[in-house]
Amino acid sequence: MKRVGFIGVGTMGTPMVTNLLKAGFSVLAYDVRPEALDEAGRRGAAVVGSAAEAAQDSEIVVTMLPSSSDVEACYCGPAGVLSGAPAGRLCVDMSTIDPGTSRLVADRAKAQGVRFLDAPVSGAVPRAVEGTLTIMVGGNERDLEEARPVLSALGSTIIHVGPVGSGEVAKLCNNLIAGVAMVAVSEAFRLAERFGVDPKVLTQVIQKSSGQTWVMEHNHPVPGMVATAASSRDYAAGFMTDLMAKDLGLAVMAGREERVPLFAASAALQLYRLASAQGLGRKDFSSVYTLLKASAESAPV
Ligand code: NAD
Repeated sequence: MKRVGFIGVGTMGTPMVTNLLKAGFSVLAYDVRPEALDEAGRRGAAVVGSAAEAAQDSEIVVTMLPSSSDVEACYCGPAGVLSGAPAGRLCVDMSTIDPGTSRLVADRAKAQGVRFLDAPVSGAVPRAVEGTLTIMVGGNERDLEEARPVLSALGSTIIHVGPVGSGEVAKLCNNLIAGVAMVAVSEAFRLAERFGVDPKVLTQVIQKSSGQTWVMEHNHPVPGMVATAASSRDYAAGFMTDLMAKDLGLAVMAGREERVPLFAASAALQLYRLASAQGLGRKDFSSVYTLLKASAESAPV
């Protein structure tokens, strides 16, 4: 498979297209934003006029779109993927969306003989640029094997999770943990601050104790603790607060539909929404730490 139809050439899609071109694939790019398409063209992709065209003229389709409603519209809407894809075409949706929408689109695709995988990613922009994303795949294993050369140009870890929708479930579960852990680490360091405990010393203690977490090791919310963390460059994302709020919102919605209680995720979601309302939406999600300040000494306890 050498010709990839790539739909959604935004923040993530653009470096992904670049890596496909570098790996020797030809790319037919489509996006609703003309300026995004121009950039894909400058990077060497051929530009087409609709999702249907990208699906018709390629050998495999990849979509990288903002939300569940965008994915549904892009596949099932007028001039969408399913109006152009011939029977047998393999489509891989790499967006982070609600697992129910992945299943719905897969069912619509199946009704006309089109194959569908959900394959969301973890790693954000730096790893999209490096081509080292973690890709979690839901769907038929044989279809994954067919898509593997394309996915290998985009990511260094590719894991088959289960049937359609389960890639999305894995992604939401991972971000549920990362989102909640960031709030927990932020709260702990604010509490320590009030007692005058040196954050460097507390970091050393936690690194060797049961509170150790990836979030603190790589994305410490306290500025100056980890040189490469977003907090040490004024919380420049990284992974944006708005995207964390989106993913926790999807997890909480999935929990509601499946009747699974999600206390910590719901609380963390509200905090990221508040952070967004306070102007931190486009900052890294570790910026939630800046909101969690102690009240004035004079406030009643
Ligand atoms: P983005 O908004 O920068 O890019 C999405 C692109 O899709 C845009 O250019 C938009 O114009 C286009 N688009 C929207 N609807 C379309 C349609 N119907 N047809 C064609 N094009 C359409 O978003 P992004 O940051 O690249 O994220 C894409 C997906 O990847 C999201 O689901 C996001 O949650 C997920 N993700 C993002 C990151 C990150 O750090 N940005 C990390 C991991 C996962």
